Amino acid sequence: MPEYQRPRSEQEFEQNFKPKKPLMNSTEAFLESSRCLFCYDAPCMHACPTHIDIPLFIKQIHTGNPNGAAKTIYDMNWMGNACGKVCPTQVLCEGACVYNHAKVKPIEIGRLQNYATNQSIASGKPLYQKGASNGKRSP
Ligand code: SF4
Repeated sequence: MPEYQRPRSEQEFEQNFKPKKPLMNSTEAFLESSRCLFCYDAPCMHACPTHIDIPLFIKQIHTGNPNGAAKTIYDMNWMGNACGKVCPTQVLCEGACVYNHAKVKPIEIGRLQNYATNQSIASGKPLYQKGASNGKRSP
């Protein structure tokens, strides 16, 4: 394993710790979600180990409902926020996105997931009622 090189300047430090998937703003999320084709067989969803309904949460983001999108994500994956940041999406959902077949950049699903869950956390609105069943299976 290569030895870790200590950053020699603040600029190098910032470069080393720059997020690989920076948080989207609402305009970026709107534009990126507009690219989704909402495939009926959604290969992205089948490639996700937690089978999140990806086209649904992307549509919810696009229609201005990030809390709904976050709930769609958390219904299947309680670690949805962390997974949006660290999942190897390039070999999972994004690797299966149909855009790859046309040699077009796949939908940035991880960043959209991160956007929705971050928006929901920032809103402070509870997504689940205490003691109520959401009708879906737990991950
Ligand atoms: S495969 Fe790509 S375009 Fe199709 S639903 Fe999934 S994210 Fe959208």
